[in-house]
Amino acid sequence: MNEIEELYQDIILEHYQTPRNKGTIIGPHSESVLYNPLCGDEVKVEVKKDGDVIKEVVFSGRGCALSQAAASMMTELVKGKKVEEAVQLKEKFFSMLKGSAEDEELVVLGDAQALRGVSKHTARIKCVTLAWEALEKCLERLSNKADR
Ligand code: ZN
Repeated sequence: MNEIEELYQDIILEHYQTPRNKGTIIGPHSESVLYNPLCGDEVKVEVKKDGDVIKEVVFSGRGCALSQAAASMMTELVKGKKVEEAVQLKEKFFSMLKGSAEDEELVVLGDAQALRGVSKHTARIKCVTLAWEALEKCLERLSNKADR
């Protein structure tokens, strides 16, 4: 492992051991649970919107360090953002995994840039996309209802 990879490893472990926004939302919200049978990961995401803004976003679940750290990073990134911005972040994250984004573009992903090495391990990609897919499902459900 080179120095950069070690640094990334530290960021991932730190999120796994001290997850951000882990828990549940009391009151009206949208939720989605997704599974990654290949690895045994389970990630549940809960979202509460205020108008156009993601007011609260939390996750819970279990599985490998990558899946849980990715969920923690995702919540940290999209909390307080507009839905539109969250969707753009998701697209950015996916293009990072496909290797089709420039380094400078990825700065907006903050700690989640630490997951870029996963692109070289196709079997693990699902681990880190699970939380983002669950987020998208929550947002879709919320947009099909009146804002609340
Ligand atoms: Zn996994």
